[in-house]
Amino acid sequence: MGGTFDPIHYGHLVTAEEALVQFNLDRVVFMPTGVPVRKTHRTVTQAEHRYLMAVIATASNPDFEVSRMEVDRPGPTYTVDTMLELRKGYGPETDLYFITGADAVWDILTWKDSEKLAGVCTFIAATRPGYDLSKFSAEDASRLHIEFMEVPALAISSTDIRCRIAERRPVRYLLPEAVATYIAKNDLYPGGA
Ligand code: NAP
Repeated sequence: MGGTFDPIHYGHLVTAEEALVQFNLDRVVFMPTGVPVRKTHRTVTQAEHRYLMAVIATASNPDFEVSRMEVDRPGPTYTVDTMLELRKGYGPETDLYFITGADAVWDILTWKDSEKLAGVCTFIAATRPGYDLSKFSAEDASRLHIEFMEVPALAISSTDIRCRIAERRPVRYLLPEAVATYIAKNDLYPGGA
């Protein structure tokens, strides 16, 4: 499950749990990005903070784990590098899925080695209610192995949470309390989105 997770919230956790059940997965590995390739418009929070927030948020679920693979890899983060490394580690017998937001799936498919990626994993593209799926043709979805999954809890967004924190509005019930405490303790998001 890839994401910038800046910060991780209940929408991400519900997405992971839903994918686990719907696709009968053994476990979900949360993979915070190191240096996101497309985030030039804003400063992304230090990878170590994003990694630690993911660890805190997932600690109580035995089916969830967090990987440092992308955080520790130098240079921009490309999903194809990650999936090839995972394929090598788990071997050819293991079915791999890449779970993330539908817009991010679209980005990956249009930018880097999409055909190669489709040969390595199935994509699970999570959508918010009302998401317009028309940019994905049925032919692309089938050729590139994309499954769609609507997640009502994805009405929660990291951007909204960053704005709320900057404006001192409540974030309780949008993300785990321990993550909110970590954010306050480290004074993350003073300037919002
Ligand atoms: P993003 O553009 O910040 O997010 C796009 C949308 O997807 C946002 O609405 C976001 O909501 C949502 N989203 C992101 N991660 C999600 C998750 N795990 N579950 C459910 N919704 C999620 O996306 P990003 O975080 O930068 O990238 C997502 C993943 O795609 C990362 O693993 C990244 O490395 C990969 N990616 C790879 C390439 C490439 O290889 N060329 C290009 C783009 C992205 P929130 O803001 O609330 O999370």
